[in-house]
Amino acid sequence: MTRMNELFGCKVFNDAVMQQRLPKDTYRALKKTIDQGRHLDPAIAGVVAHAMKEWAIDQGATHFTHWFQPMTGITAEKHDAFITPLPGGRVIESFSGKELVRGESDASSFPSGGLRSTFEARGYTAWDPTSYAFIKDGVLCVPTAFCSYGGEALDKKTPLLRSMDALNRQARRILKLMGRECERVVSTTGPEQEYFLIDKALFDRRTDLLCTGRTLFGAKPPKGQELEDHYYGAIKPRVQAFMKELNDELWELGILAKTEHNEVAPCQHEMAPIFTVTNVAADHNQLTMELMKKVAERHGLVCLLAEKPFAGVNGSGKHNNWSLSTDTGYNLLDPGDSPYDSAQFLLFLIAVIRAVDNYQDLLRESVASAGNDHRLGANEAPPAIISMFLGTELTEILEAIESGKPYEGHGADEMTVGVHALPKFPRDNTDRNRTSPFAFTGNKFEFRSLGASDSISDCNVVINTIVAESLRVYADELETAENFSSALHSLIVREITEHKRIIFNGNGYSAEWVQEAARRGLKNLASTVDAIPCLLEEKNIELFRRHRVFSEAELRARYEIKLEGYIKVIAIEAETALTMARREILPAVMRFAGEVARDARAVKDYAPALSTTPQDKLLLNLTAGISALTDRIEALQQAMGGFRRSADVLEKAKYQHERVLPAMADLRVVADQLELQVDKGCWPFPTYTDLLFRV
Ligand code: ADP
Ligand code: MG
Repeated sequence: MTRMNELFGCKVFNDAVMQQRLPKDTYRALKKTIDQGRHLDPAIAGVVAHAMKEWAIDQGATHFTHWFQPMTGITAEKHDAFITPLPGGRVIESFSGKELVRGESDASSFPSGGLRSTFEARGYTAWDPTSYAFIKDGVLCVPTAFCSYGGEALDKKTPLLRSMDALNRQARRILKLMGRECERVVSTTGPEQEYFLIDKALFDRRTDLLCTGRTLFGAKPPKGQELEDHYYGAIKPRVQAFMKELNDELWELGILAKTEHNEVAPCQHEMAPIFTVTNVAADHNQLTMELMKKVAERHGLVCLLAEKPFAGVNGSGKHNNWSLSTDTGYNLLDPGDSPYDSAQFLLFLIAVIRAVDNYQDLLRESVASAGNDHRLGANEAPPAIISMFLGTELTEILEAIESGKPYEGHGADEMTVGVHALPKFPRDNTDRNRTSPFAFTGNKFEFRSLGASDSISDCNVVINTIVAESLRVYADELETAENFSSALHSLIVREITEHKRIIFNGNGYSAEWVQEAARRGLKNLASTVDAIPCLLEEKNIELFRRHRVFSEAELRARYEIKLEGYIKVIAIEAETALTMARREILPAVMRFAGEVARDARAVKDYAPALSTTPQDKLLLNLTAGISALTDRIEALQQAMGGFRRSADVLEKAKYQHERVLPAMADLRVVADQLELQVDKGCWPFPTYTDLLFRV
């Protein structure tokens, strides 16, 4: 058996390998680039490329690729062999500094939202040295950013790196004020990933799963998740074998896979890694999703990452645990024990509170997708209303600071920021509120609204940027203060007063919260089409422009891409539902009705006195069902593509939401009722019971 220290990171060109394989001065220069985000000297790129290639070939690699994350949400790669021809029909293996640093890519086949004009279809990929290169299936993968020729971001990594820079800039201003200078501040992320595993043979027989990744039909099974017997339950041998292989492959890639367990729904599971720097965590999460799918197939399974693969049982999300850390590993959201630590903690805490309150819309938008619309607000995931959970104790402490009143044995004067340490409060609230979208969990925040298939980049671009904005405002104010301590105290008091409406420790699933939130003036952006337009609001354009995360043109492109993506997803789902209803369900029900009719006639032929009332009744139901199904197929067909050709992209997306989705839902109701009346042998595809319980 291979020991963990040999296995872990064995396919990664990581720091240890660099130290071993690079000349000392090259190593030092590269390390500076990585740690401090410095520009890389092109001269050393050639040396790095050579060492990388030699190492990769030693590991059996034959190709290299620039590995990038276009706005499709999945990763892209194009392999090039390490060969250069020599005279005499021979070749040598080569990989130049230029090939490492920059690649050309045809941008025309990736979503660009109008950033790429047709006469300039080229885009390029640029090496991100902060994320280690790795080997996957015999290919050296170089993590890269993907941009248009004009330099506009066409991917998910570029804005994330820019937002990390913005956060670093502003956080260091604050730390400088507090007398704690450091080289770099980063955000850290640990994403908990939920997924379903189902049998591949059954999956293959469902057009909806094949085409859309989720079921569009399926009657409620006799048993669902009501017995609560799956969460943390014993893991089935086949799933265990999958998890073992997945872990091995993740570890080889240096991914810190840590916990695994069964989730609430049948055949639902979760994997969580140990947190790391956010842009690396984003790369790792993309690789994790890819490997989950790949490894599942080897076990005759299919891994579903759709947000809501099955109606009636919980869907899958992702929890984005987020904090800020100095380069020396000091967590800035750790309350600490000294007055000094407390003051710093409070300032960063308040910065996040202000950020979430001011930019609820952007946070909501960052997790908006057709798939996630089925989860948010459906009593299994946080509501569409963004609020924050701090726990009763911390909330009361903030209230005491705000009002200058005593808190549990601590006199009012002891509640002065910067002079006294914070009163102790439970760090690890075991009774955590699972209904809150944005919860403080001891020394980090957990954003719980992400869909399972989301790239974590989107929401972290937002979190990093909006927190950077709070810190900018605070630094501007505190840098000019005459008396730092008193300015700090009054800033914190003022910010608590201004933004406390976003704090909610109650039940986020309750109907009362919807009303209460409205009373507080919080946003309730119920669906994707309600959320996306916020990208074009002036305050948001200004935010991203100020911190150089997105230009206005880039934001407009993202707005277009997201809406177009939404329109297409609904169109594909509707097309699939229509095909299944027309070509699979309707014929099956008709055949079965024919069988019942023949059976009734056979009974009458056998003995006219015998009753065929049960057959008659069933036939009546079936024929009524056939007629209803036909009507709803027609209604869906009519709804599809029914928007005006000239309609703009938002109008079209709204049309899909308001007209096509309800027509699909109407069709499904009739089909699911018929499923429960038809001979199982006649039903054209596996049922929910098959899918959920035959793993
Ligand atoms: P839960 O009870 O929600 O499962 P855990 O304590 O298991 O919470 O942690 C969940 C995730 O939070 C893990 O991926 C963990 O590494 C991550 N995490 C812990 N500390 C931090 C931090 N400072 N920054 C970012 N993520 C963190
Ligand atoms: Mg969690």
